[in-house]
Amino acid sequence: TKWVYTFGGGEAEGSAGDRDHLGGKGANLAEMCNLGLPVPPGLTIITDACARYYDDGRAISEELRSQVKAGIEKMEAITGRRFGDTQHPLLLSVRSGARASMPGMMDTVLNLGLNDHTVEALGHDAGDARFAWDSYRRFIQMYADVVMGLDHEVFEEILEDEKGRLGHENDTELSAVEWQHVISLYKRVIEEELGEAFPQDPEVQLWGAIGAVFASWMNPRAITYRHLHNIPAGWGTAVNVQAMVFGNLGNTSATGVAFTRNPSTGENELYGEFLVNAQGEDVVAGIRTPQNITEAARIASGSDKPSLEKLMPEAFEEFKAICNKLEAHYRDMQDLEFTIERGKLWMLQTRSGKRTAKAALKIAVDMAEAKMITKEQAVARIDAASLDQLLHPTIDPHARRDIIGSGLPASPGAATGEIVFTSEEAVMAQKEGRKVILVRVETSPEDIHGMHAAQGILTSRGGMTSHAAVVARGMGIPCVSGAGNLRVDARNELLLAPAITLKKGDVITIDGSSGQVLKGEIPMLQPELSGDFGKIMAWADASRRMTVRTNAETPADARAARSFGAEGIGLCRTEHMFFEGDRINVMREMILASDEAGRRASLAKLLPMQRSDFTELFEIMHGLPVTIRLLDPPLHEFLPKTEEEIADVSAVLDLKPSELRERVEELHEFNPMLGHRGCRLAISYPEIAEMQARAIFEAAVQAARETGAAVVPEIMVPLVGLKSELDYVKACIDAVAREVIGESGIDIEYLVGTMIELPRAALRAHVIAESADFFSFGTNDLTQTTFGISRDDAAQFLNTYIQKGIVEKDPFVSLDFDGVGELIQIAAERGRRSKNGLKLGICGEHGGDPESIRFCEETGLDYVSCSPFRVPIARLAAAQAAI
Ligand code: ADP
Ligand code: MG
Ligand code: MG
Repeated sequence: TKWVYTFGGGEAEGSAGDRDHLGGKGANLAEMCNLGLPVPPGLTIITDACARYYDDGRAISEELRSQVKAGIEKMEAITGRRFGDTQHPLLLSVRSGARASMPGMMDTVLNLGLNDHTVEALGHDAGDARFAWDSYRRFIQMYADVVMGLDHEVFEEILEDEKGRLGHENDTELSAVEWQHVISLYKRVIEEELGEAFPQDPEVQLWGAIGAVFASWMNPRAITYRHLHNIPAGWGTAVNVQAMVFGNLGNTSATGVAFTRNPSTGENELYGEFLVNAQGEDVVAGIRTPQNITEAARIASGSDKPSLEKLMPEAFEEFKAICNKLEAHYRDMQDLEFTIERGKLWMLQTRSGKRTAKAALKIAVDMAEAKMITKEQAVARIDAASLDQLLHPTIDPHARRDIIGSGLPASPGAATGEIVFTSEEAVMAQKEGRKVILVRVETSPEDIHGMHAAQGILTSRGGMTSHAAVVARGMGIPCVSGAGNLRVDARNELLLAPAITLKKGDVITIDGSSGQVLKGEIPMLQPELSGDFGKIMAWADASRRMTVRTNAETPADARAARSFGAEGIGLCRTEHMFFEGDRINVMREMILASDEAGRRASLAKLLPMQRSDFTELFEIMHGLPVTIRLLDPPLHEFLPKTEEEIADVSAVLDLKPSELRERVEELHEFNPMLGHRGCRLAISYPEIAEMQARAIFEAAVQAARETGAAVVPEIMVPLVGLKSELDYVKACIDAVAREVIGESGIDIEYLVGTMIELPRAALRAHVIAESADFFSFGTNDLTQTTFGISRDDAAQFLNTYIQKGIVEKDPFVSLDFDGVGELIQIAAERGRRSKNGLKLGICGEHGGDPESIRFCEETGLDYVSCSPFRVPIARLAAAQAAI
């Protein structure tokens, strides 16, 4: 087996296409060599060797040993140095590199091959003893930490003590002799702590480091990361062994990192940082403040330290040319690592750079317009879920900001609301239509419902990956986390800022894009939906097959959805309309009526209200399809529950509390989700469905008269399991339609369809389709009824299920393709078999989830319907699924 691939001297055995074997880093190092770029020679041990290492009980095979030896001989030939030599020693870096970039893997070991003898040779060779001893102490520090497992803080303490003693501020100020002393202290602490000496034999050092890379594949951090990102354990990691180049060889040497474009704005400008006389991680470690690479960035940042452009113009020009070359080659923004050794530039890494959603849009659009990529590629490249970041309001830059504290910009967008300190209060406030900011020390999984109900989240503890930050980003809710200068005193319901103390109910604004916490309500700008966003959306629309509708019943939601590009309403939940204002009382009156005549009297009062709702929706949707679902929830949901509420309501309705209580008890159900709801209500009380149908048709007539645009209402019957149920309700609807047509003299086109949300309906789809013009998959209920898991009680055990690996994901969030998905496929196939061209859609929560949308595309649905803010995500995801 060929376990080792070499690169260097202008050619490589591998290439970017071999990522699976070479890992991301190794594949791109090979590719850069093949492109003729200056890359120090090296070799890559392929990922399969890692798997083999574990199969062999964590042992290194002879075959691998001899192939690595041959690879190092090649490096020796190219560099004119020899590994372990005491005249011209070759030093190595040992770097891990999985297929996907993976935090948790072993940190890089630099300067491997140094010992008490080779260090002298290195200093002699370079004519710089300080440099050699500096490299040696770095090596001991890194090796002891990542290979031998001795915490690096021990070394930092020693170094700090020495610096203090010698009166040095920076590491670069230590002389060769001073480093020698530090090294003797390092060696002593290793012996004391580990009971063994630092290895002097370069061969031992090398295999120690390679073994440590393999071993790090199974460390807990790496395992957790793989788990979270669905990376199979079988992949293994590659190991890169590369000749060292030195950025710490005095003031003509440097090391740095750069992006070919600005990763936060997407601006087409080289962006990066470097340090003179430094090595490896010094730049990111923040040991010294790094310098800007370009002069433009230096000026913009107001730094007085020279840019690379000014300091080393030749190396800079070469680097810039390489950036352009790599970007053109990979056709994507690159994230680069480089080192300059005595003025000579070396490339050490390239990969596609991480970027914000805003930058991703700009880069994709710019590259497509420059014809570097096609429009389809531009569309395919955007992470649909990340659009969430762009759909939220931002603080008006001209607004006065009364800053009371600050934390991390954990989830983008700005939000204003009253302070609440518990999730329960947040949920209650939402029910009452109040906007709140949930303020906590930190959040935990029990806070999910409260986080959902809040406009924004503020925590005083926790970083960018804290629970609050991760969950808020996932939900698209603005979040400021770890605001350390604020103290949350939940017990006394106080938020203590340095200059002011706020209490529950006080209004604050958080800016999840800057991390600021502000007093009061601040003017906001609505999201920018034109520009790059608009272009990507237009290109996506051109590639997509499915249409995207929205779930909306309020005019505000319908308008928002239109502005996000919704092409109609896929689900209008009429029950929501009955909760508004004093309608609830008329509704209660209807429910409590003792006979049909009483119910009809109340329904007559509801009719004009319902009609005006629909008229407004039809006008906003201006001829686009609108699917209206008949009343779905069990009736007792509209009735008062506590004694207090019963007292209030009985006063309003002029009833005896005891009578009301009795009627509420009559309507009580043991299992309401499987009880008297959906089409069952329309069958028990056809007058309700008749009123709703009349409201819909009269509104359609009115909208047609007023706007001139023909409205084709789509009436949806919920919770059908039997064709006979649908037939009964459809007959009511048809009769009302005939009446309204007769009365108005206007012919109304309309559709009657059903939700598929019971397994029986899915299985009998071919029969039900005979009476239905369309199916809409109500995947929330379908998931509930397929699993037999109550959606409202699932939280109590689903988390445990996920933790114990019983289920991988919450099926109410990510569609269960295997089970619920199969029912959808069966229903789609059987339904269309009996009715050609039967219109199919989805209107559950899953309609806005990119993975579920891909499934809908593959199943051949005609449309997806989702909440207004997810419409752009759905448009993009539908396009990506079709490309
Ligand atoms: P990471 O995956 O954490 O970025 P790398 O393997 O890229 O780790 O190594 C980190 C840094 O170590 C590089 O950016 C570079 O500065 C330094 N480094 C790695 N290999 C070499 C080398 N052959 N010569 C000089 N520096 C190196
Ligand atoms: Mg790197
Ligand atoms: Mg339902």
